[in-house]
Amino acid sequence: MDPISYERAADLNGALRSAQQPGSMYIGGGTNLLDLMKGGVTRPVRLVDITRIGGLDTIATLPDGGLRIGALVRNSDAANHALIRERYPLLSQAFLAGASPQLRNMATVGGNLMQRTRCPYFYDTAFAQCNKRLPGSGCAAIEGLNRTHAIFGASSQCIAVNPSDMNVALAALDAVVRVHGPNGERAVPIGEFHRLPGDRPDIDTTLQMAELITAVDLPPPLFSEHAHYLKVRDRASYAFALVSVAAALQMEGSTVRSARIALGGVAHKPWRAIAAERMLTGHALTDANLREAASSAVSDARPQRDNAFKVELAQRTIVRAVNQAAGRTGGFA
Ligand code: SF4
Repeated sequence: MDPISYERAADLNGALRSAQQPGSMYIGGGTNLLDLMKGGVTRPVRLVDITRIGGLDTIATLPDGGLRIGALVRNSDAANHALIRERYPLLSQAFLAGASPQLRNMATVGGNLMQRTRCPYFYDTAFAQCNKRLPGSGCAAIEGLNRTHAIFGASSQCIAVNPSDMNVALAALDAVVRVHGPNGERAVPIGEFHRLPGDRPDIDTTLQMAELITAVDLPPPLFSEHAHYLKVRDRASYAFALVSVAAALQMEGSTVRSARIALGGVAHKPWRAIAAERMLTGHALTDANLREAASSAVSDARPQRDNAFKVELAQRTIVRAVNQAAGRTGGFA
């Protein structure tokens, strides 16, 4: 076993100082990181415990009417918070679709953003090929079992998917991630926070060295009346999404005034279906135009050998999630 040093940061500046030492990693709830360490997938030299830093475990309204969720807020607390349930039901539903109650009680919002893929070849060190775990070693999934892998945005280096439900809802809501680092504070739109794999699949996010997530900001609520998170998985709980859809609408009668659609389980990052959103906006929500929009959402899908079913599943899940969000019945004939 490799020796690991442990420091409990008393404040933000202390955490940033400690994390600048080589081999350091932040630890919050630890629900993903400890699994990775036990499996020998991730080998930090120093753990910087951020759980005692004050002010990161609160949820507060912002002057513009939005909401700031501290990075140390537990997933279960966020899911059940009155303001999130009332104003951002999409996010509450996504939290509750993730993991198990025990894990949600420990896992933090910041840690959820940093979740690593559940590609089995990444977690099993018996496999020599995994560019995410061992850069330059190859990708066992491309020729291996790839039923759960990406249909969008993959590269010849990695076809893994982001496993988070929360991230999909945050993408639909245009959340902003607040980070602090040695050079100060910055705000990162959620769409720019996670990376596509490209030729560096070992890097999941655009965080810089020692930067720490401090909060997630939600814009003023626009979709509290018409939102639905739909997760399709192999079993009813404690399973990652094959495909998930976060759908949020503003409606005027039967006309869509604005639409947000984000997909999970299909790419290295939450995948916004911008073309589908545009096709719905300004039009009456009918079965025909919804199916057309769903079809446009997968027009650039590039499935792997085992996961072509996700192309059809994504369309069906979009149709059902949007219908649920709008309060319509209807599916995919
Ligand atoms: Fe590793 Fe990515 Fe290939 Fe999975 S898909 S084996 S995480 S490189």
